[in-house]
Amino acid sequence: MMPKCPTCSSEYTYEDGSMYVCPECAHEWPINAVAEAEEAGLVVRDAYGVLLNEGDAVTVVKDLKIKGSSLVVKVGTKVRNIRLIDGDHNIDCKIDGIGAMQLKSEFVKKA
Ligand SMILES: [Zn+2]
Repeated sequence: MMPKCPTCSSEYTYEDGSMYVCPECAHEWPINAVAEAEEAGLVVRDAYGVLLNEGDAVTVVKDLKIKGSSLVVKVGTKVRNIRLIDGDHNIDCKIDGIGAMQLKSEFVKKA
């Protein structure tokens, strides 16, 4: 399926070599632009839509029960030096008193 034109939202875009072309507004853009953005790194956003980076410190915004244990990561827990990973839980980190675990970025806030 062809992507819509990013300029005028036309659905009649077509491929021309390595470019997409919009016949309605004559906009041209590279076919692999999207793939390149994904290769450049994971896009992980916190609960407020702020972009997170490798090594950032975040604060937990919701009590998180840890599966298979009675441990809870409390609201306000600070997590330092996060790693971004691909998946449903997109933050890999180590929490004092709990150990290595993975979090969902929607439950943290950039510190
Ligand atoms: Zn267009």
